[in-house]
Amino acid sequence: MTITGDQKLLKRINRMALVRNVRAEPEISRAELAQRTGLTKSTVSQLIDELIAEGWLCERKRRATGALGRRPTPLEWDNTRLALIGAEVGVEVLTLVVTTLSGEVLWRFSDALPEQPEPDAVLDLLVQRLIQAAQEVTKMQRHLLGFGVGVPGAINPVSSVLYLAPNLGWRDVAMREPLATRLKAAGYEQIPIFVRNEADVAALGEFEFGEPPVPEPLVYVSLGVGVGAGVVLNDRLFSGAQGMAGEVGHTVLQMNGPLCSCGRLGCTEAFIGLRAMGAAAAPQGQALSLLQLCQNLEQHHALTQTAVETAGKYLGVLLQNLWMTFNPARIVLGGPSCNLGIAFTQTARQALSQFGEQSGLLIPEVQLSRFGSDAVAVGAAALVLHSVIRPIYGE
Ligand SMILES: [Zn+2]
Repeated sequence: MTITGDQKLLKRINRMALVRNVRAEPEISRAELAQRTGLTKSTVSQLIDELIAEGWLCERKRRATGALGRRPTPLEWDNTRLALIGAEVGVEVLTLVVTTLSGEVLWRFSDALPEQPEPDAVLDLLVQRLIQAAQEVTKMQRHLLGFGVGVPGAINPVSSVLYLAPNLGWRDVAMREPLATRLKAAGYEQIPIFVRNEADVAALGEFEFGEPPVPEPLVYVSLGVGVGAGVVLNDRLFSGAQGMAGEVGHTVLQMNGPLCSCGRLGCTEAFIGLRAMGAAAAPQGQALSLLQLCQNLEQHHALTQTAVETAGKYLGVLLQNLWMTFNPARIVLGGPSCNLGIAFTQTARQALSQFGEQSGLLIPEVQLSRFGSDAVAVGAAALVLHSVIRPIYGE
């Protein structure tokens, strides 16, 4: 990308630098912001006034300290006037949320999707729901910053074309352009739209909406029908040359192992994907659903217990490999399979701890996502925020 001395772009960069600084240091004063950014005090004051008028920032009431003289008015993010919309196109479900700048969910909606749905039908439904969510934002008297979408496959970060979503049966599906065209026709051409892989956006959800400072590298592991990882490194998503970095569900754990949805043999997903676990728990019949697996675990059903714990051990192997690949400061586990509870996640942690003991090294911190089954939709909202407050990188 060529960066020219565009005054509007420079102004956006300066404005968003102020926004990011206020988040990093709530209660920071205008004078301190001038010091941090190298901007003049008058420029800072002018930009801050604009950001307050637009709903990004607010002035916190000064606490009575008893000290004499005029003290600077502290600034902080305003969570009451702007909104983000995030959507998850899942393998079986479409979920939308409206959130505040801090990731608090204000509105939520979900639809079940048919098995192997057609891209056009899903895009039509998605646009319908995005418009519905935007109307909710208007009713809340908030200003919408953008639409974010998370999809279960590898996305080209520049063209936003989905290369491959094996669990949807989609290949080479354009995402952003058809969405933008449909939203433009509905009168939303001014609102930016961002599309990324589901694990990538969920990683951003943990990164943007976590308690600052969020340690890096941060690796989010998405566990459901598909398995993927999102990596945040140096304040950015690490998505690789073609957007395929983090497709860890299709890293191979066993040569000539079980068949995976992508066509390879022995992929991670064929061991720890939800359908693989459901099939292992019912070798004679139809694969068990997540709900059936959870019910069987509650009743201490031996076959289900073994199937889930075996998958948990393989998840431990995946975490060990991610640990050695990225040396993350934090790993976050999320996605529907986390509902299986400790038989899955605790078994994985124990397996990772064993690798740590064997090597005499301290393992990284492993957490469960705070956003539960909404992790991707909330993450898609975080993708909007992440892109808007980093103007050069986001567009
Ligand atoms: Zn695979």
